[in-house]
Amino acid sequence: MAEARLTRGRHERILHGHPWIYANEIQEVRGEFQPGDIVSVLDSRGKFIGRGYINPRSQISIRLLTRQDVEVSDEFIRRRLEQAVQYRQLVVPHETSFRVVHAEADLLPGLVVDKFGDYLVFQTLTLGIERFRGVIVSTLLDMFRPRGMYERNDAPVRELEGLRQTVGFVTPPFDTVIEIEENGLRITVDVQRGQKTGHFLDQKENRMAIRPYCKGARVLDCFCHTGGFSLNAAKAGALEVTGIDQSESALLVARANAMDNDLTGVSFESANAFDYLRMAERRGLLFDVVILDPPAFAKSRGALEGAVRGYKEINLRAMRIIRSGGTLVTCSCSHHMDEALFTQVIIDSAFDARKTVRLIEKRGQAKDHPVLLASPETAYLKCFILEVS
Ligand code: SAH
Repeated sequence: MAEARLTRGRHERILHGHPWIYANEIQEVRGEFQPGDIVSVLDSRGKFIGRGYINPRSQISIRLLTRQDVEVSDEFIRRRLEQAVQYRQLVVPHETSFRVVHAEADLLPGLVVDKFGDYLVFQTLTLGIERFRGVIVSTLLDMFRPRGMYERNDAPVRELEGLRQTVGFVTPPFDTVIEIEENGLRITVDVQRGQKTGHFLDQKENRMAIRPYCKGARVLDCFCHTGGFSLNAAKAGALEVTGIDQSESALLVARANAMDNDLTGVSFESANAFDYLRMAERRGLLFDVVILDPPAFAKSRGALEGAVRGYKEINLRAMRIIRSGGTLVTCSCSHHMDEALFTQVIIDSAFDARKTVRLIEKRGQAKDHPVLLASPETAYLKCFILEVS
């Protein structure tokens, strides 16, 4: 097995538990290896640090799988999967739909597995984890005995790893439009055509957390996708809920979800949320609750500046159309935008909107999306509930 020795003075972060090793943190790799192989990682003095898979094509050259001197075999991966499932039994014991594996935060970098009722959906986003695809699929089939399993590897990040994008059934084909239960609601998830794996499970607890503010309220849900927040607002007794998204196919599902749950007073509109907020401000519309759950504006560090402008614009406009004493639920799922920066963006937005903002609750991702404390990137979702006056 090849050995990668780290550059002197560059390994603090890695020693403290971060699983990523960048090219400039590696002094040399001794021995033969193929992209995707497991290598040993040594500090600059030659002391063993751990094992991970290597891919020189990727900016992140090595992702650590273990800090112990053990063989990274199929059996090793199987145990890791079992540990991920045990963790869910602890934190979300009564759920039938949850994230089974959350990549780096489950010490299985590159692997995402979601369970939707009796079905599983997975993504292998790196070359190193793709190598273990066989044992991953067979272990998951053994553990869950799902009715069906689907591969959603149509993620552009795979290209950075030299992998092609692909999707398909791993089990005999099944109807990919699935109904799940979430927060007491029936939600339709299309694991084949929906975004990412079909449904954003990470917001589940936040969707529930908005309910106390929604009774009798006029609610605007921007970037509503299949209606996650809107449905919870309506369930909590909102007077009127408007969901906005630019994806027609997501809105079709959102409308069907509202019908399936006998929720009235909910409507969904296809629009660019930026335009809608501008229009609402111009017309002087007022809401009691506004929800902002945009896609990651900052997909890279370089895109951060533009992203800050985007977040600021929507937050500023949302604050202007909230009645005094109303609620803003504002989210960012970009890990490049950390909590401190996001907080600053909200403060700046409030200043420009001439509003006073009080923090009711600072929230993150649902518990089935664990956070590896030493890796800030795994704490990607911020959800602030604010009072605006
Ligand atoms: N709140 C949703 C998840 C939002 S994901 C839930 O709880 O499930 C982000 C959504 O933003 C996607 O559905 C995407 O279609 C939509 N979107 C992206 N850019 C947009 C824009 N400029 N205007 C409106 N919707 C947009």
